[in-house]
Amino acid sequence: MATQRMLQFVTKSKEMPTKRAADDRREDFDEIYREYAAEKAAEQASRCSQCGVPYCQTHCPLHNNIPDWLKLTAEGRLQEAYEMSQATNTFPEICGRICPQDRLCEGNCVIEQAGHGTVTIGAVEKYITDSAWEQGWVLPVTPMQERPESVGIIGAGPGGLAAADHLRRAGVQVTVYDRYDRAGGLLTYGIPGFKLEKPVVMRRIEQLEQSGVQFVLNCTVGEDISFDAIRGKHDAVLIATGVYKSRDLEAPGSDLPGIVKAIDYLTTSNRQGFGDDVPEYDSGALNAEGKRVVVIGGGDTAMDCVRTAVRQGAVSVKLLYRRDRENMPGSQREVQNAEEEGVDFVWLTAPAGFTGDTAVDGVLVQKMRLGVPDASGRRAPELIEGADYVEPAELVIKALGFEPEALPTLWNTPELAVTRWGTIRCDHTTHMSSLPGVFAVGDIVRGASLVVWAIRDGRDAAEAMLDYLAQPASLAAE
Ligand code: FAD
Ligand code: SF4
Ligand code: SF4
Repeated sequence: MATQRMLQFVTKSKEMPTKRAADDRREDFDEIYREYAAEKAAEQASRCSQCGVPYCQTHCPLHNNIPDWLKLTAEGRLQEAYEMSQATNTFPEICGRICPQDRLCEGNCVIEQAGHGTVTIGAVEKYITDSAWEQGWVLPVTPMQERPESVGIIGAGPGGLAAADHLRRAGVQVTVYDRYDRAGGLLTYGIPGFKLEKPVVMRRIEQLEQSGVQFVLNCTVGEDISFDAIRGKHDAVLIATGVYKSRDLEAPGSDLPGIVKAIDYLTTSNRQGFGDDVPEYDSGALNAEGKRVVVIGGGDTAMDCVRTAVRQGAVSVKLLYRRDRENMPGSQREVQNAEEEGVDFVWLTAPAGFTGDTAVDGVLVQKMRLGVPDASGRRAPELIEGADYVEPAELVIKALGFEPEALPTLWNTPELAVTRWGTIRCDHTTHMSSLPGVFAVGDIVRGASLVVWAIRDGRDAAEAMLDYLAQPASLAAE
């Protein structure tokens, strides 16, 4: 009987939750998708064909038990679905919102491959845990017994928080240090509310506090406290500091006022959304209102900038990218959302310089064409001589990617081994760095990556740290 509820993809077509109209969503920073009604979530979950070898699960970095929680949802057994979903994912409702599902679970769903339209795995995952919060099923951690060992975590992004949750479940004493005034890392200050509303992040942090995790905020390791002091305070340390050094653009006029970094722009916008006092927003320095805006870059950060500028009331928003639509790294779903909201994508263009006397008033744009594939396999952009023009702009946002900060230098710890890209070198199974008892996870190990990978790393590193803490002290010090 139960299996008859499944395999409904033949008669039921794929339906995402309702997307708000573009004119409506341009007016605020609320999420653009509404929640499924219970019947619709069950119906969409019932489209799953319960594959014996579920490729969706294989391609989920957390190896979520997707077919099983889809089946439980289709059967209306939502609390069991939630229990199963949270067993492998620390923040299912966050991944359900912001994972690039088209590249991960949903992109590999056999129903999608067979041309029926994927099972809407992300939307169902979000629905299950949002419902669990509403029902009061998501509870703070209460460890069976407290342990004396303590772990210091540097960085309160998803990598650090996933590890904190896992370690608290085992009763370990956990302190998380972060240089910002709020925890959450890029979930809080990078990703805009229209993809991930902030109360969704804040309720998780409150619950970690209720679970006994200590947060030390406004504390920059290397300035307010030394890395050595943190090592001295704790039995093991986890570095989860992310990557924050913005790649820059060397071009004539690139230091003119009005040319800003994406991370500064997005952080300011998110702070404004929290109701903070933000002078850079009020002064207009990091505010697109009434301006012609040009964003440079083709990744997801660029996409978040253009859509933020639309919501701030920009007169026009253009994105310059040196390749074409098919060859851009950003998600196609996000491109479509941005286009609906009025963003103009100017493909095959690159900035050659900036015009203006006391502040930027234009971007000197070069036109490109695609040549033969380069080492990455993508067709390399080539300049079209003599086709330059000036694009007027009062705000230019550089979204060219991120690199790691030089932690060994900043923390006066030359023995912390890094790769030639500056990411921390660590054992890929245990996540232990070159320093005994010091582990590392997330973007500071992988380079700019995804939330779901940071969660996976945090979970795996916490397991390895528990093994490390269980060793006799003499072995652990080796
Ligand atoms: P972070 O989230 O960066 O957290 C690191 C924390 O460490 C920060 O809070 C920082 O303040 C703190 N810190 C750093 N140095 C110090 C120090 N010296 N002392 C104390 N604290 C310190 N991924 C997705 O999966 N989906 C998306 O839609 C998506 N959108 C994105 C949009 C933007 C604009 C950006 C920039 C990234 C996006 N990502 C997205 C990527 C994702 O946010 C990251 O991969 C993820 O947050 C990495 O987690 P983390 O824990 O390693 O680091
Ligand atoms: Fe898909 Fe991400 Fe959820 Fe995994 S965590 S099932 S990849 S949405
Ligand atoms: Fe269901 Fe698709 Fe996963 Fe198969 S691949 S188990 S159909 S969600």
